Amino acid sequence: MSALDFRARLAALAADDLLRTRRVLDAACGPRAVVDGRPLLAFAGNDYLGLANHPDVVEALREGASRWGAGAGASHLVSGHQRPHEELEAALAAFVGLPRALSFCTGYMANLAILPALAGRGDTIVADRLNHASLVDAAQLSRATVRRYPHNDVAAAARALEGASGRKVVVTDAVFSMDGDMAPLAELLALCERHDALLVIDDAHGFGVLGEHGRGALSHCGIASPRVVYMGTLGKAAGVSGAFVAGDPDLVEWLMQTGRSYRYTTAAPAALACALLASLRIIASADDRRALLAAHRAQLRRELAPVRWTLMPSDTAIQPLLVGGNAEALALAARLLECGIWVPAIRPPTVPAGTARLRISLSAAHSADDLAALCGALTEAGHG
Ligand SMILES: *Cc1c(COP(=O)(O)O)cnc(C)c1O
Repeated sequence: MSALDFRARLAALAADDLLRTRRVLDAACGPRAVVDGRPLLAFAGNDYLGLANHPDVVEALREGASRWGAGAGASHLVSGHQRPHEELEAALAAFVGLPRALSFCTGYMANLAILPALAGRGDTIVADRLNHASLVDAAQLSRATVRRYPHNDVAAAARALEGASGRKVVVTDAVFSMDGDMAPLAELLALCERHDALLVIDDAHGFGVLGEHGRGALSHCGIASPRVVYMGTLGKAAGVSGAFVAGDPDLVEWLMQTGRSYRYTTAAPAALACALLASLRIIASADDRRALLAAHRAQLRRELAPVRWTLMPSDTAIQPLLVGGNAEALALAARLLECGIWVPAIRPPTVPAGTARLRISLSAAHSADDLAALCGALTEAGHG
């Protein structure tokens, strides 16, 4: 072992088919990607509603930059909290139906603030085993005791809460980012009520897509409680960048006062908040886009029913096709690329070993013909 053995360490990753390659895109985010000068039909992003390149959002960003400049210049608590940031928080809280919201630069940073602010040494965090990496890291950072329960196993979560010490926090993705399935939020909330625990819900993939007018997982599941700490991200369905936490006003104030990744970072440019305000207005009236997404999902599941790989159970825009081995998943992704279709192969450690998959991600910006092209290529690949 040497301090400079990175080449050997990279070779070990390569030997396990775990090296990632970045592709440089020469087009705005959307189903029509251009990679190395070659047009590709992409099912690879999280822009579920097709807002990342929406003219109204782009224009709001442009106007926001003209009015507010390029940078905020300081953290929110020093001098970087401008009017659009304030308006965005009010709009987000109103939209998700919670008393107060606090905005963050990214979802990763929001999660890094939340868990350490809510639990510390001597406290207990009870976490779904398939939670997003940012929640895993945040739990470690908190120094609380972390008990991970098997995916969506409410009985196991209950056992983890029995006899847990200190303050108790249950944390889960609402929609699991590599599986597309949902957490049993109502059952988890009932559990939290019984054990005087908080329920932190990461709705990165539900905000804008699920629930009445896209209000997210709380609306979808019909739950409301001061125990719920709701986190949503703004770089996926909202098409821009950023995140927010919403909930009980005192709890949100506590996060603002003590969240380290909130306090010790420069505020996002106000122009992003302007773009997000425009995006939020579109989301609230985008039932047509959400209906299209549902139609795409139905088409995909219908047309892929006969292929030899299985679509994992999912009622969301994330439709993973389970392949198994790393090399096999990479080969299938490469096969699709030959047909001009880009679907990322997701491998460990992002997913458990032996469950490598193609993560098909649908968007309202896709057409029925796009779906047909994907299903046709997968059907072909299954025969050859
Ligand atoms: C993408 C994602 C995040 C991180 O959000 P960013 O804004 O991209 O940093 C957090 N949690 C989940 C479940 C995610 O899918």
